[in-house]
Amino acid sequence: RELVSPDPEGDEQAIESALRPKRLGEFIGQSRVREQLSLVLESAVRRGRPPDHVLMSGSPGLGKTTLAMIIAAELGMPLRLTSGPALERAGDLAAILSTLAEGEVLFIDEIHRMSRSAEEMLYLAMEDFRVDIVVGKGPGATAIPLEIAPFTLVGATTRAGLLPAPLRDRFGFVAHMDFYDVAELEQVLRRSARLLSLELPDDGGHEIARRSRGTPRIANRLLRRVRDFAEVRTEGVITREVAAAALNLYEVDAEGLDRLDRAVLGALLRKFGGGPVGLSTLAVAVGEEPETVEVVAEPFLVRQGLLARTPRGRVATASAWTHLGLVPPPDAVG
Ligand code: ATP
Repeated sequence: RELVSPDPEGDEQAIESALRPKRLGEFIGQSRVREQLSLVLESAVRRGRPPDHVLMSGSPGLGKTTLAMIIAAELGMPLRLTSGPALERAGDLAAILSTLAEGEVLFIDEIHRMSRSAEEMLYLAMEDFRVDIVVGKGPGATAIPLEIAPFTLVGATTRAGLLPAPLRDRFGFVAHMDFYDVAELEQVLRRSARLLSLELPDDGGHEIARRSRGTPRIANRLLRRVRDFAEVRTEGVITREVAAAALNLYEVDAEGLDRLDRAVLGALLRKFGGGPVGLSTLAVAVGEEPETVEVVAEPFLVRQGLLARTPRGRVATASAWTHLGLVPPPDAVG
């Protein structure tokens, strides 16, 4: 079966949600965020009041959705999920807000992509638990205030910098999610292997963790690819060599850089001599949207010390040249 149908899409999603930690105690890493959040939640539960609104920022796949679900679970409240792009008009948001039950948790993913009008409605809802429904048009238009049940908003964004200050200021708690270190990703992988009934020796787990771009979602995905490889080629044993061979096959290199990462670095070095070059020029050179390059590739490259963002543009470091097997020019930074 595995040979003919290696995990159709739906299956992968089902596995992903089965692997989500359900409670704060099971959530690995992000120890500062976890501790701060547990205080916020526990004191809210003691007071019997909804906690302050929570904003989470960080790269994709670091566990923002998982944490939103955990917040609802810890409060013993239902969770309503939506996303910024789905809130095109204020009416879309009003429809959700007006049907929230008291204490419910509303999760808005990609909150920086909400429309202006929805955003303005949200200000009032967050502060006064009220929305103004505008009826009619032109000079005859009237705003009818509508009370809504006290709720907790959990917002997630990959780009906290894009959030307008009035919105950011209305969150009582802001959690910055960082990339995970290798030891934490090894824990994530051990937990996932257990849940998937896979045997994962420590050296195999270490090799996958090292190449996971500091991101639990990627760690879980690479684990499944390595499992496929191991089942078909090596009777299921995931040793370090098997993990490395499988990941090389899937074009994930020894530092965890994937194809997009290497395309960005490659263009920066070969086409622009290491920079500085502007984000949009770089994005055109790799055939991607500037936002993809900025949100998906760059944060990890910066963290690995391969790329620097400067006021004049993106610059490759000396390690970037070495990583791609090229000789750094004498004036290369870092
Ligand atoms: P996005 O920003 O795209 O919504 P995200 O940051 O919300 O991504 P999640 O979908 O919450 O990421 O997490 C991705 C996967 O990684 C989940 O399936 C979950 O199993 C796993 N995961 C995330 N964080 C942790 C963690 N701290 N411990 C264990 N597993 C985790």
